[in-house]
Amino acid sequence: MSFAARDDLLACVHCGLCLTSCPTYLELGLEADSPRGRIHLMRALDGGELEPSAEVIHHLDACLGCRACETACPSGVRYGALIESARPYVEGFRPARTRRTRAALATLLTTRALRRAVFAPVRPVGGAAWLGRLARRLASPWLAYAAALPRAGSSRLPLVLEPRGAARGTAVLVTGCVADTLFPRTNLNTALLLRHAGVRVVVPPAQGCCGALPMHLGHAARARALARALAATLVAPGADWIVANAAGCGALLREYDHLLRDENDARETAHRSRDALELLAELGLPPPARRLDSTLAIHDPCHLAHGQGVRAQVRRLLAEIPGVRLVELEESDTCCGSAGTYNLTEPAMAARLRERKLDRITASDADVIAAANPGCILQMRAGAILRGLAVRIEHPLDLLAEAHGVGLS
Ligand code: SF4
Ligand code: SF4
Repeated sequence: MSFAARDDLLACVHCGLCLTSCPTYLELGLEADSPRGRIHLMRALDGGELEPSAEVIHHLDACLGCRACETACPSGVRYGALIESARPYVEGFRPARTRRTRAALATLLTTRALRRAVFAPVRPVGGAAWLGRLARRLASPWLAYAAALPRAGSSRLPLVLEPRGAARGTAVLVTGCVADTLFPRTNLNTALLLRHAGVRVVVPPAQGCCGALPMHLGHAARARALARALAATLVAPGADWIVANAAGCGALLREYDHLLRDENDARETAHRSRDALELLAELGLPPPARRLDSTLAIHDPCHLAHGQGVRAQVRRLLAEIPGVRLVELEESDTCCGSAGTYNLTEPAMAARLRERKLDRITASDADVIAAANPGCILQMRAGAILRGLAVRIEHPLDLLAEAHGVGLS
């Protein structure tokens, strides 16, 4: 059974130049856990020369979908598209119980009411120092994730924010799944910063998931249905830009034209999508009003750096804040292990990559880390809590809102 475009599979010339950019290859040193090895497996699966055994599925599951290999590949191999086409295919060969669990996870994460119900008991203790101490004492990553959640608070988003004076354009804000439930303050700060840059901001209510989380879990049909509904919602206001602040959502929105071929709303969404930091850097902000005395390092989320090519814009915006001293973070664009649902489905490798990232953070001497993706923030915060590291890990948009005196801190 063919599940992938043959041309994409054959584009790999086995040069191996991508190997050292692959986080799982760096950790395990195994060909089957490298991009080249996985392409080899997918090619054999697609051609029917290999059965989707548990071992084969294990090597594909271990892939983070981070797309660092795409950045490194001189032959333009579309690795992200390949792994996303392989995931739904192998889903059908998993044991029934595993399939049911993964389907339940996809439903839970993409259904607003279920998500809110699950997180409701932990939201009031999110950010609590005592919970962090308990997590460290018990060495419990799950308690650490709970302690890493932002403190619950009211950050209601208006439906429309008008700028002072003539608008430079209109942006539709994508509120996301995880961000909508756990990071509403970042959504509000994004809207306020855009308004500060002279943009009229429209926030359609009751937005659904963009489809990125079910794509990670191999549920392509659910991802397409969610994407179709969201594209219609985002395109309806006829805005100039569709703006996301979560790297995982933004990367998929830009690929809606591939996900939903020949569908107008999807093509329009892909065409108008921008990351919020990218758009703010393009439009420019007034000089920041406040100092932020800090040694700051930037973690580049995979789906921002490799998926959307946004790196320099983040550095430019943050470097303009008085008091900020930017320092380099080694392997800044190597995955932290969060990767959509990866830290839930592959916790052992996710923990190894989290530790690798924390080693680099410690070596950087930074006291603030900026990371433009909710999943990365939770992953690194949880790790810092477990290690007892005194480092603040924040979305760059929250830092900018603080420096520009426009948002909630
Ligand atoms: S997507 Fe990331 S983890 Fe997967 S093969 Fe490419 S570099 Fe490795
Ligand atoms: S994916 Fe690209 S870099 Fe990696 S082995 Fe194939 S051709 Fe070379």
